Amino acid sequence: MEVRLIGDPVLRGETYKIKEFDQKFKDLIEKMYGEMYKSDGVGLAAPQVGMPYKFFVMDDGEGKKAVINPKIISFSDEKITFEEGCLSIPEIFAEIERPKTIKVEYYNENGEKIEQELTDYKARIFQHENDHLDGILFTDKLSVVAKQRIKKKLQELIKEGKRQGKELGEIKLWKIQKI
Ligand code: ZN
Repeated sequence: MEVRLIGDPVLRGETYKIKEFDQKFKDLIEKMYGEMYKSDGVGLAAPQVGMPYKFFVMDDGEGKKAVINPKIISFSDEKITFEEGCLSIPEIFAEIERPKTIKVEYYNENGEKIEQELTDYKARIFQHENDHLDGILFTDKLSVVAKQRIKKKLQELIKEGKRQGKELGEIKLWKIQKI
């Protein structure tokens, strides 16, 4: 399992719903927890490890959680700004404005439906990871000025991500078939 960098097409592609919550899928979730903690992340979405599926793992300080086929039902009008980073965009951090509170529904790894209201940090991680399932990265939300500031570093990462995506093309296919 390898974390893909911005520039890799898998981070921008379509994602598919999970239909089977079998042991193979649970094993995959475990691997993703491992990768997330190894990389010191608080969230990791399937496309970030080359899999075009609608799920992510996160740890908002209350332990690990798998979020499968998620939907954000509503967003608060109130917005807050918070610094974000991303395992697919290493070493770049930026202040991003997002709704403070969200209502969500998703399935856990046992296929049970969960409904929750999340706020502040928890809502932040959820929104960031959910964006990955729609092919959106936090740097997309930056102003022109803020983007300009990180342009050089971003271009280097995109180049590396494109190369890596090509190299891993076959592994990507194999992983899709395995799921
Ligand atoms: Zn991310």
